[in-house]
Amino acid sequence: MRLLNADLHCHSIVSDGWLDPADVVRRAKANGVELLALTDHDELGGLAAAAATAAKLDLRFVSGVEISVSFFRETIHIVGLGIDPAERTIVDGLRQLRAGRGARAQRIADALAEVGIQGALEGAHSFARNPALVSRAHFARHLVASGVMPDVKTVFDHYLARGKPGFVDHEWVSLEDAVGWITGAGGVAVLAHPARYRVSMADMACLLDRFVAAGGEGIEVVSGAHSEDEMRRFATVARQRGLLASRASDFHGERESPVDLGRCSPLPPDLTPVWSRLI
Ligand code: AMP
Ligand code: MN
Ligand code: MN
Ligand code: MN
Repeated sequence: MRLLNADLHCHSIVSDGWLDPADVVRRAKANGVELLALTDHDELGGLAAAAATAAKLDLRFVSGVEISVSFFRETIHIVGLGIDPAERTIVDGLRQLRAGRGARAQRIADALAEVGIQGALEGAHSFARNPALVSRAHFARHLVASGVMPDVKTVFDHYLARGKPGFVDHEWVSLEDAVGWITGAGGVAVLAHPARYRVSMADMACLLDRFVAAGGEGIEVVSGAHSEDEMRRFATVARQRGLLASRASDFHGERESPVDLGRCSPLPPDLTPVWSRLI
């Protein structure tokens, strides 16, 4: 089971991925993935189509989600794996969470207009296939397409990251609510790409304390967003805290993602994989 090619975090057009849910599953199968979770941001809308395609292709599939959380002044992402996508509390909670994105997108567009970039809201919407889920990635794609910046990463560095002119503060859900929705829906809560948060060591320890106290059980040790050093650092965290380890490409599309579906490094062999709880 340890050598299973599991990929437990990726995106479709239901949030800010480039592929239809069914095409995500087909690509995962073609890449040799043996256990897949689709984890769109704050959305469950792609899970039925993905599960149906996975069943046809004989690929093991678990329902997932990546929930946006406000913690101190940072945005943190909590992945839920093995959730029941029909469970009322998570469905209603995510609907409310998504509802905040419309006004946020308007504020991002207003902030960009202040620095001379007009029409960004319409531009972002032209890239967002789900109008309820406009993400900064859609703004970034629009700025690339309109020639403002050469690539998505450069857009984030210049305009969309915290402290840059197009960044706006936003209140997402609390860590406790996000973990509670996931466990209440029968799922396992996993801290996504922990190396990506700009928090001090003390705040990371506090985040982990609160995550575990809320019922969180897993951490992405291997992530498409982690370097080898970061992977080793969070393998140590998983060992010290007895957390289940996840392996996750965070694939959005071949143009944007450094790691393709199923092509992540293996987990360090002494860690307990999160999929021991899922299959
Ligand atoms: P949002 O949920 O609207 O804040 O958008 C977050 C999404 O933007 C992430 O899930 C990534 O897809 C993308 N993103 C965030 N930071 C970066 C970055 N530095 N480079 C490329 N994409 C990024
Ligand atoms: Mn994303
Ligand atoms: Mn994320
Ligand atoms: Mn993600």
